[in-house]
Parts: sequence; structure tokens; C-alpha cells
Amino acid sequence: MRSTMPDFPLTLQHFLWRSTTLFPSKEIVTKREAGRHRYTYADFGRRVAQLAHALKDLGVGEGERVGTLAWNNHRHLELYFAAPCSGAVLHTLNPRLFPEHLAYVINDADDKVIFADASLLPALQRIAKQLKGVKQFVVMTDGPSPNGELTPLSSYEELLAGRPSVYPWPELDERDAAAMCYTSGTTGKPKGVVYSHRSSVLHSLGIAIGGGIGLQEADSILPIVPMFHANAWGLPYAATMLGAKQVFADRFLDPVSLTELIREEGVTFSAGVPSVWIPLLQYLDKTGTNLDGLRMFVGGSALSAGLYDGLTGHGIDTNQGWGMTETSPVAACATIKSQLTDQDRKAIRLKQGMPLAGIELRLANVETGESVAWDGKSVGEIQVRGPWVTGSYFRGVDADRFTADGWLRTGDVANVDPEGYIAIVDRTKDLVKSGGEWISSVELESAIMGHPKVLEAAVIGVPHPKWQERPVAYAVAKPEFKGSVSQDEILDFLRPLVAKWWLPDEVRFIDEIPKTSVGKFDKKVLRERALKAPAAAAPSE
Ligand code: ADP
Repeated sequence: MRSTMPDFPLTLQHFLWRSTTLFPSKEIVTKREAGRHRYTYADFGRRVAQLAHALKDLGVGEGERVGTLAWNNHRHLELYFAAPCSGAVLHTLNPRLFPEHLAYVINDADDKVIFADASLLPALQRIAKQLKGVKQFVVMTDGPSPNGELTPLSSYEELLAGRPSVYPWPELDERDAAAMCYTSGTTGKPKGVVYSHRSSVLHSLGIAIGGGIGLQEADSILPIVPMFHANAWGLPYAATMLGAKQVFADRFLDPVSLTELIREEGVTFSAGVPSVWIPLLQYLDKTGTNLDGLRMFVGGSALSAGLYDGLTGHGIDTNQGWGMTETSPVAACATIKSQLTDQDRKAIRLKQGMPLAGIELRLANVETGESVAWDGKSVGEIQVRGPWVTGSYFRGVDADRFTADGWLRTGDVANVDPEGYIAIVDRTKDLVKSGGEWISSVELESAIMGHPKVLEAAVIGVPHPKWQERPVAYAVAKPEFKGSVSQDEILDFLRPLVAKWWLPDEVRFIDEIPKTSVGKFDKKVLRERALKAPAAAAPSE
């Protein structure tokens, strides 16, 4: 028997309709060089319609890609809706990619138009000659377009001016592409992941519900995670769906600007990678500032105990989630089950969470692929499937990342406890293999970052004649302890925390840990450096 329910398409058009109809006076705020830009969902809706007209006049057809090279701001949000709701595909571009990777992803996706923030135009100018398929560049500025090497180049505001503020939105199939994003290429060429309207809608519902990240209309939401990477973890879509106030920091990510924005715009929820929260925490410590009532969602890299304690100490309810570009990106969240006690809170929040409603997860032996028990100890590769987990890469590359029975091989090695909470041990490629045993670089890093004099730490495996690989730690001292913290101090601190053979052979102090284009520790760069100076000592036996 069939149901009586229609296949009403799950599209982003519904979010646009809902926010502009039910919450027309709620605000969207963007920090600027001087002051803030603020307008309402009603204004936003009118401009999204004008932008859709402009896209049509620029000749962007159904399914064609619209590239964006922009920070978190209201114009970027307009593109997040105008492109997919008019039947085109939003392609967010990461300005921090190497020029050759940026040119590669624009050409691979076959972007027809590229919208860029004025401050990011130089990144495009550098590769202009390689971009054969781009028919139009648009600079997202208040004034007219500047002169430059990019042609044809028009200005965003000039493009919208005078256009009708309603648009006859086309009927879309929920399975149509809405947006695409490339992995940041830490392990080779970037690979495209294409999100559908349906996956974007379901991901928004999945993260917003209680038991997921838990978001509501009354929240004031500040995504620090960039809109150019993995859809800012889906927050702009979820926030618009709810009609929540949205706050954008644009390119002003220093702790002073962020604290000001959080306090003055009543921000109740923010999200980002640990490397943005570390300097914020230092600032809160130094100035004795508390941010009571703020919920902070940390992901992309592990949340260390030190960062958790620090943020919590300033009144911030700190949570963690796990996911990847391939999973839209949020797939798990460290929600605390009702039968667990408050004492378990910290231990749970330091894990990467349990799968969201909609996501199925299994653990597979890295070598044999056999099922691994959820006992909180045995490790295996995380494999996931669900309506917002990609089933392939764009153009079918790297097909072996998907199992024959339809699961994504994430490349993350973890254990899962009997309650279903994941603890990431490492990415397969980052595990340190010493004497046939694995050492978790993530666990070592978290332990070192717990040292009161350490700001950041990253651990890599360096080749070793006897042990195959040995861990070497790179650490950055807090400014006030620069030059006054020693390797022995760190090793003494680690001794009671980790097995003897896990102790790094060396702790090298550096000024800054190199970061990837999305703010994670760039271990590729550290490995290259380490190869020039291999580990000296053997592990104590
Ligand atoms: P890239 O793959 O280019 O680094 P992604 O944002 O897709 O970009 O990264 C996804 C990866 O980030 C995951 O596979 C996992 O290794 C790591 N990751 C995500 N969240 C966490 C977390 N909470 N703790 C530890 N690692 C995480």
C-alpha cells in the first residue's frame, strides 16, 4: 500500500520562504572594517530574488556552477540561497588553497561565474589566465568594480540595483545538486563533493534538533567556521531554516573583535576549529572576561582537555562534533545521554560524539575490513552512511573510498564505546607506527596541550631504523613562557599520562604550528621539516 503523502520536494526554497515569511524582522549582522552591516530576513529575501535575476541575466543555466570566494558575510549568505534556489549550484572556494589547487577546483567544477570579496580578488588575479571557462567575475563590494586583470568584472551592488525583488522560483527536484565543496587537498588533489537540496535540508534538520547540535529560533548564531569550507558546517542553512539571528565576522577573527561581536550581538552559539578558540581563550584569560550563556561547538580537530577546561572556566558550554566535507559535514555530536550523569560530562565532551539521527556508523578493521567491537578500546576505521553522506566523489574519482555495500571509508581511526561515543585515535595517515604498534598522535597532542606552559602541540611520526617510526612533538610555548620551558619538563608531565614507549623522542619548540587552509595542524609541512632532521634517540626499552 502506498501512503497518502506527496513527495513534497525537500529544497532550500522552503527555508527561504519560511525565514522571510515567518521571521521577516529578525536580523542578519556582518562585521565590517568600521561598524556592522545589519538588515532583516525581509531585506535578505528581496536581495536573494534580485541576485537570482542577475544570475539569470548572466546566463547561468540550470545545474551550472556559481563560484564564491568570500568570507562569512551577508552577501555570501545571499549566494548560498540565490544560486541553489534558482536551480544553479553554489561552489564555495577556499581562498587559502595553493594557487594551483584553486585553479584546479575552479576548472574541475567548471564554474561559470565567480563572486569574490574585494579583499580576495588578488587570489583570483594570480590565476586569471588559467580560468578559461569563467564568463564573468563579480566583486562583492559596496562601490563600483575596481580595474584589474579580471575581465569581465562587475560589481555586486551594481548587478543587483533596480532588479525586481521577487523571483519566480523554478520547481526543483530535491535530488538536484544545490552546492559543492572540495576537500582541502591535504592528501592529494582536492576532490569534489556535491550536496543535493534533499541532503542539505536533512542535514539542517539533523543538526538543529535536540540530540543533535541543538539550535533554535531564539539563538543568535555566529559561525566562525568559514562559509568557504563545508558550508560553514551547515549553520547558515540551519539558522535560516529556524529564522535565527545570524552574525558574521567576515575576515575579522581576532579575539578582540570576536569577543565584542559575541557580547554586543547577544551570540548564544558559535562554532569553529580549535585553532580559532586557542587565541580567544588566551584573551579571555588575560582580560578576565567571561562569556556566560555562550554554547561553543568545536570540530574539525580534537578538542583537548586544556581547551575544554579553559573555555568552560569562562562560562562557555563547550561541545564537540565530528564530520568531514564528505558528510555535509556534521555526522556526530557529543550529546549527553539522559541516563548518563553529569560527572560523565567532560569525558563525553572530549570524545567526538555519537552519530546524529540519520547517520549509521560501523567500525572496520583497517587491514581486513572485519567488524570491530564497540568496547571503547578496540580500534578500527570509521565507516558511515546516511542521507547526507556522499556516495561518490564528483567525476567518480577515488571510488575505492566507498565500500561495495555503500559505506564511506572515512580514513579516521577510532574506538567506539558501548554507548556509541566515538573517540578518534587518528587519521590513518597520521598514526605513528612504532615497533608494529600504533601511537595516537591526537592523544599525545591533547596530553601535551594540557601542560600549563604549552599553547599548541602537534605530533608526527618520523622514520626510525629500528622502530619504523617514532613520535616527535612540535610545541609552541605560551608567550609568557617562551624560552623557559624544556623538553624534560614536557616529558615528565607526560610520563604518568601515556605508556612509556609513547613518549616522544624529541620535543621541538617552534614559534607556530603550520596550519592547513582550514586551520588544522599541517602535518605534511612538519613531516617535510622533520625529514631534514630525523629523530635522534631510540625509545627507552
Ligand atoms: P580535510 O579532510 O581537508 O582536512 P575536512 O574538514 O573534511 O577537511 O576534515 C575532516 C577530518 O577532520 C575528519 O576526517 C577527521 O580526521 C577530522 N576531524 C573532524 N572533526 C574532528 C574532531 N572533533 N576531532 C578530531 N578530528 C576531527
